[in-house]
Amino acid sequence: MKKNTKIPFNKPYLTGNELKYISQAIEGGKISGGGSFTKKCQKFFQNRYDFGKCLLTTSCTDALEMAAILINIQPGDEVIMPSYTFVSTANAFVLRGAKIIFVDSREDHPGMDETLIEMLITSRTKAIVPVHYAGVACDMDIIMGLAQQYNLLVIEDAAHSIDSFYTGKDGVKKALGSIGHLAAFSFHETKNVISGEGGMLAINDARFMERAEIIWEKGTNRSAFFRGEVDKYNWVDIGSSFLPSELTAAFLWAQLENLEKIQSRRLQIWHSYYDMLKLQVKNIRLPLIPDFATNNAHMFYLVFNEPGQRDLVIESLKSKGILAVFHYQSLHESPFYKDKSGTVKLNNSEKYTDCLLRLPFFYELENKTIKLISETINETIKDI
Ligand SMILES: *Cc1c(COP(=O)(O)O)cnc(C)c1O
Repeated sequence: MKKNTKIPFNKPYLTGNELKYISQAIEGGKISGGGSFTKKCQKFFQNRYDFGKCLLTTSCTDALEMAAILINIQPGDEVIMPSYTFVSTANAFVLRGAKIIFVDSREDHPGMDETLIEMLITSRTKAIVPVHYAGVACDMDIIMGLAQQYNLLVIEDAAHSIDSFYTGKDGVKKALGSIGHLAAFSFHETKNVISGEGGMLAINDARFMERAEIIWEKGTNRSAFFRGEVDKYNWVDIGSSFLPSELTAAFLWAQLENLEKIQSRRLQIWHSYYDMLKLQVKNIRLPLIPDFATNNAHMFYLVFNEPGQRDLVIESLKSKGILAVFHYQSLHESPFYKDKSGTVKLNNSEKYTDCLLRLPFFYELENKTIKLISETINETIKDI
């Protein structure tokens, strides 16, 4: 390959029908939210993954903010979540006055260490927010068990987790996002299935279904009005404008129609990386998929022993025009959190911040590029 090759970290994939469906939405004369494309997308998820009620949102961030309103977070309530996550996981609850209690990551996986949760539960704890990192399930038996024992709510941050599953001790295989009381998904352009910006709240606990729709519709009972259940619509609760336009939903529908095609190529890419790297790496970890989890090929990452090793690999990839990137800055070390809550030490989370590297991952990534990336990495690390 030429020296000036430019391989991005991510490239949004268009499946083909996006513009056609957007045109259909425009020609149909209905481009605000809640129309037929929105309904089709929501039904798709309800049917395919056994989610409760699904509501499309403008982002996963918005879905998390809806969740925080829905579970009635009050100032001082405590919410337990991993530190190694995107800022929205925490911010959504902070906006309602919650105090965030961060859990360390697992030693063998960037997801939260489920065994550390129980000791953090207090009389103020309201919710646990597991993040299924890279679409790999947290141990939901442990988390749902604690929720039941201490009367807590579970909101899955399923931003990475479309089409991924968890098998509990009862042997039942459940889709991620169908297990917690609520779950938030993302269709941001960096995720497997995209709509530019976009997200969805899955409401699995029937207690929250009616109110979710009201919060989604700016605190009004407009949805019930359109179904003819009330004769005029009113301001009945707090809420905001959480629903995306039909243009976004039309784009998303084109993607969902091709979900299997997207997933099968992404899995091929993941396994190509794994096979080409696994023989060579010494002491550098490849992604772990525990027995209870499936792999939805959301990302491919490496965990180095030291930050210096990661820097070397980033540099040698960069010299070939390939962009590999690290991931989250641990939230417990963020200026915003430290100023308020002081210093906490979470060793595994800090290790992933310093030593995890994500490789280019997108539908159109070519086999020869995967080979080039893998060979470059193997060459760089063979002496470290
Ligand atoms: C991407 C992401 C989000 C936010 O998704 P948006 O749709 O961009 O708001 C939240 N949590 C995690 C873990 C994410 O990776």
